[in-house]
Amino acid sequence: MMLEKISNCPLCNSTELELHLTATDYTTTLELFNIEKCTSCGFVFTNPRPTSSAIGNYYQSDNYISHTDGGTGLLDKIYLIARKFALNWKYNLLKAKHTTGNLFDVGCGTGEFISHMKSKGWKVTGMEPSAAAREKATLKIQQNVHANLDEITQQFDVITLWHVIEHIHLLNETVLKLKSLLKPTGTIFIAVPNHESPDAKTYRQHWAGYDVPRHLWHFSKTTMEKLMVDNGLKIDTIIPMKLDAYYVSLLSEKYKNKRQNIITRIIKATASGFISNLKAKRAMNYSSLIYIIKK
Ligand SMILES: [Zn+2]
Repeated sequence: MMLEKISNCPLCNSTELELHLTATDYTTTLELFNIEKCTSCGFVFTNPRPTSSAIGNYYQSDNYISHTDGGTGLLDKIYLIARKFALNWKYNLLKAKHTTGNLFDVGCGTGEFISHMKSKGWKVTGMEPSAAAREKATLKIQQNVHANLDEITQQFDVITLWHVIEHIHLLNETVLKLKSLLKPTGTIFIAVPNHESPDAKTYRQHWAGYDVPRHLWHFSKTTMEKLMVDNGLKIDTIIPMKLDAYYVSLLSEKYKNKRQNIITRIIKATASGFISNLKAKRAMNYSSLIYIIKK
């Protein structure tokens, strides 16, 4: 395994890092990874982490593929229903800001979202580093899907990163690149897990939102705000993704207790998701948040 150690906090450059917790890679290797916290600005990140050339190995999992392609188990079915609901929900979210326009989806996976948006009359551009997913996306939308951010030069009304920015090695560089690709009136939508959510605090090292080592960065509202402001962008609104509390609780229950029967798991996860959403309301600390970002 090719690991690299980050010695300076990418947000504030401090070298004072402390152990936040140690988490397991439950989806592929069962390897342990440390998650560190900057004592100066509070940014939390996986450290050390696989290099960008080694990280591909950690995406080779049947679990991972079934979630993008649709399996046959009960949980896969629930996931597919939730995904259909989520596609429409995201469409309406975008429509509230821009009636139509051109859209760039970073980390578009197998192209579900851009395909949906294209069917609604949007001009779409996708970027996906995984060759297998990119191939499927290309077939689905019947147009080229880019492999790399550097290939993109035009400007967009909307840029979306649905649970993607936490996977990208070059953090500040990517945010700056996205800013350059955004029209002056454009909007960026960034969805990420929130490690300060009630369900993250309940499940701690078993919390599925950590998803090490694929998740390199673990954001809170404070650290996302700092990342944006320091790169010349601003947060316009923050929106909760309430379904994520249920999905993340379901996975976290599985990581915590592998032998648990599936009905018990679903009941516990439903209760956990419900309670998390309830507790999260006052401080807007939901399991996952969407940051709506402007220039
Ligand atoms: Zn820091």
